[in-house]
Amino acid sequence: MLRIKHGGHSLIRVNSRHSRTLLFICTGPVSCLPGRVFLSMIPFMEALSVRFPGQAGRRYFDWAATAIPDLPAQDPGAFGNPSSLHAEGRRARQLLEEARVRCAAVLGLDPKGIYFTSGGTESNALVLHSLLLRKPSPGILFSAVEHPSVRENCLVLERLGLRIAPIQVEPDGRVSPARLEKVLGKHPETRFVAIMGVNNETGALTDMPSLLRLIRARGGSPIHVHSDLVQAVGKVPLDIAAWDLDSASISAHKLGGPRGIGLLYLRKALNPLYRGGTQEGGVRPGTEYIAGALALAACLESRAVPERVALEYAEASRRFAVLIGALRAMPGCFLIPQDREDVDPRFSPYILQAGFKGIPGEVMVRLLDDRGYAVSTGSACSSAQRDRPVLTAMGLDPQTRLEGIRISQGWATTQEDITGLLETIGEALALFQGSSGKAE
Ligand code: PLP
Repeated sequence: MLRIKHGGHSLIRVNSRHSRTLLFICTGPVSCLPGRVFLSMIPFMEALSVRFPGQAGRRYFDWAATAIPDLPAQDPGAFGNPSSLHAEGRRARQLLEEARVRCAAVLGLDPKGIYFTSGGTESNALVLHSLLLRKPSPGILFSAVEHPSVRENCLVLERLGLRIAPIQVEPDGRVSPARLEKVLGKHPETRFVAIMGVNNETGALTDMPSLLRLIRARGGSPIHVHSDLVQAVGKVPLDIAAWDLDSASISAHKLGGPRGIGLLYLRKALNPLYRGGTQEGGVRPGTEYIAGALALAACLESRAVPERVALEYAEASRRFAVLIGALRAMPGCFLIPQDREDVDPRFSPYILQAGFKGIPGEVMVRLLDDRGYAVSTGSACSSAQRDRPVLTAMGLDPQTRLEGIRISQGWATTQEDITGLLETIGEALALFQGSSGKAE
């Protein structure tokens, strides 16, 4: 039960026995109501309740697309341009630098290596596009399951004359040291490698320390290692500094912060393709978004400190163990990959890919949506496309690829949400199988 004071009213949020989130608006002083009396009134009030607008009766399982916001953009209290010399500008500069130091402190990095950007997409693109200015042109490797902001920018670089090659993944969607070693051997010209920390469609977790050790153990010209950590930071235990990465991308809205703010970590400043100003050391020109930078710092402080990550990770694992175990036992349901365990250290406990034989993923998404459950098919950034490059890279056939749905959870997900989702999937399956006249 959550009580929020709002103006003269009290808002009370309750997760009822029937797994519904109810919102009551009380015009009187509810604090005088004894808790037990209040709770005993819930079944009665539930019958009369108005559902929480925008959230009432809804259960959100698309956290990998964006988290439920809980740390919106902050008013920095300074409107000046940080590049201006006057007091307003100096105040804005001070706040921006404070945000940078705070982000760096949580991540255990040097603040000089933190560059604010508009989010994960821009951070990835910025690093990749800068390769166009490097001479000689670097050979590029990228894992075959990268987010479109890496994969598609690599394809653009190829069209512009750079040599690229994908790193194939194992059937579980992960890059193994053996696969990496093989492709590095085939492409001795490689000077840049992109491997994401956690896959946004399957939750596959990269064993970054092993892969980095392998890359660093190779003699010859240094290789820049970039990692898209958008689905990893604040979700899985990680240590960017100890991993010896050259660059990494982070986004605030996956952590409950606002959209349009993220950061790029760079061990060494790069030569940017896009020019326009000296902001962010010239790496990311454009007037800075100070409220966003402060919100990102607050998100990291709230979500990405190791103790919090470990706690939420354990709880998320417990909830997903129930979900995965029950889905595996459900007739017609399959997991992607098939051998994903209830608790599986190869995967983030926040993202699951599963499918239902004979039911296109889009149909399942709509059936669940109609019943109040938000899940998705794949990456929000490629939801308009019907192909599923990540599942293709894992060797899945076209039919299975179209049946996949992504279920992703977050810190506000409850065990009741999971129970409700499982019941609703069961109902949707029965409905679909009844209407199509077949039982899988
Ligand atoms: N990288 C990954 C792995 C993602 O999941 C996303 C968002 O879906 C992005 C990058 C893009 O981040 P942003 O939305 O901040 O541009």
